[in-house]
Amino acid sequence: MTNEYQIRVVPEVAAQEDRLKMWIADEQGIDVRTINGVRILKRSIDARQRQIFVNLKVRVYVNEQPHDDEYIRTEYPNVEGKLQVIVVGAGPGGLFAALRLIELGLRPIVLERGKNVHDRKKDLANITKTQKVDPESNYCFGEGGAGAYSDGKLYTRSKKRGNTDKILNVFCQHGASTAILADAHPHIGTDRLPKVIEAMRNTIINCGGEVHFQTKMTQLILQGDQVVGCVADREYRGPVILATGHSARDVYRYLSEAKVEIEAKGIAVGVRLEHPSQLIDQIQYHSKQGRGKYLPAAEYAMVTQVEGRGVYSFCMCPGGFVIPAATDKEQIVVNGMSPANRGTQWSNSGMVVEIRPEDIKGDEVLKVMHYQEELEKICWQQGNMKQTAPAQRMADFVNGKLSYDLPKSSYAPGLISSPLHFWLPKSISRRLQEGFKTFGRNAHGFLTNEAVMIAVETRTSSPVRILRDRDTLQHVRIQGLFPCGEGAGYAGGIVSAGVDGERCAEMCAEYLRHN
Ligand SMILES: Cc1cc2nc3c(=O)[nH]c(=O)nc-3n(C[C@H](O)[C@H](O)[C@H](O)COP(=O)(O)OP(=O)(O)OC[C@H]3O[C@@H](n4cnc5c(N)ncnc54)[C@H](O)[C@@H]3O)c2cc1C
Repeated sequence: MTNEYQIRVVPEVAAQEDRLKMWIADEQGIDVRTINGVRILKRSIDARQRQIFVNLKVRVYVNEQPHDDEYIRTEYPNVEGKLQVIVVGAGPGGLFAALRLIELGLRPIVLERGKNVHDRKKDLANITKTQKVDPESNYCFGEGGAGAYSDGKLYTRSKKRGNTDKILNVFCQHGASTAILADAHPHIGTDRLPKVIEAMRNTIINCGGEVHFQTKMTQLILQGDQVVGCVADREYRGPVILATGHSARDVYRYLSEAKVEIEAKGIAVGVRLEHPSQLIDQIQYHSKQGRGKYLPAAEYAMVTQVEGRGVYSFCMCPGGFVIPAATDKEQIVVNGMSPANRGTQWSNSGMVVEIRPEDIKGDEVLKVMHYQEELEKICWQQGNMKQTAPAQRMADFVNGKLSYDLPKSSYAPGLISSPLHFWLPKSISRRLQEGFKTFGRNAHGFLTNEAVMIAVETRTSSPVRILRDRDTLQHVRIQGLFPCGEGAGYAGGIVSAGVDGERCAEMCAEYLRHN
């Protein structure tokens, strides 16, 4: 017999299977010796009160062994010799598009400018060693895309847009822990993501698809208003799913020059804010002892409005690192990630201010991208023309004071003290200062000089939207071109990019049925 229960228990019970079995047996009046297994179907932490609870939905196996599959498997047929589709970019958008194409009986040819996920790692380490960024292999470019060396947070608010559960199940099929199916805020962890991505690539290749690394698309092949392929190291023929991410500025420049309709899109800009993780645990779990043995590193989400624009935390990484995420020379860009155990002594988040296209002068379609570029270059100049990032203690920033020293930080290339309040655009620094005061009032201890702000966080989303038809997902004018994922302006994270990739693959299959 199996029974499902919605229960609310203290963290030490939720974390230990034996205690959980005993608790359920007691509560339900069952003999504990008859419980052969407890599967957690949903898990969320309720930390609103001093006594913290874990809400669980559990399936209990009484007098029978757990037998049902832990995740839903997708069947991938062999697609050798089938019609081919070019997928540009091997980020989550491109990879999920490729896998869905296989399901639909089409043969994906994936072109990726960067290296495979393993070789890419060396180039990331080199950023700290040499203070230089390889423009083709970095935290944004390479197999797995910007998502590969990320936190691997799989939480998305865009449930309506498609089947997010399917994306999580495909991750499990390729080696992610099935805990991601249960957790309210699932994450894989930067140390585990590469293996999952490698397994996804192997599925594509084993089914007869192709994956080409260090193969940069430079041009689309157009016949009138129809895309029939693209140019990289050679010509590749087929409709194109363009999933090149938010940092492929050369792609945006090419599209703009080729008169492919695109428009400027709003972004958010600010800094990475890093606290000692123990301090965040103390604040969020209302306890001087911090998180104790049974709770994960604490998360937070903060949001306010200042002078008509949103100021908010973005991509929070508990127990993580701040990393150098630039994609070219002469720029500094920061971002964050964390390993599966979220075990470092720091917790960081982007603290960003909403920027709308109308906040930037002019009517050029690339103006928001130029704004990002300008800021990243200033930041690099402030950082001594290396990857050492300009930084300021949080309370000093709010009080308009230079920091005489800086706290220890996870940012490996190093920090340099800099008056961010002085050189960041006033529209950003003023709003961040006011926002931080509000956050400090709402979470006692959050506004502190123990926290350091690291500049500059500019790659929160795409500065451009590639215009596409709502129903067919093809470009508004050009047939056979499917702008996909975050770079096209239709996703904002790993899961939503994956969902968009699947939808583009489906629409591409539909297109091929009629052409
Ligand atoms: C450090 C970091 C941490 C993050 N953490 C999270 C997180 O925890 N959770 C979350 O949901 N999101 C996170 N994100 C955001 C997430 O990674 C992106 O939203 C997601 O990867 C977008 O997927 P995509 O496939 O649309 O684009 P991308 O992942 O950017 O992939 C685009 C790919 O296209 C390739 N490419 C570009 N131009 C060309 C070309 N001309 N020819 C061939 N290939 C090309 C690139 O090399 C890249 O591999 C993080 C991002 C970063 C940088």
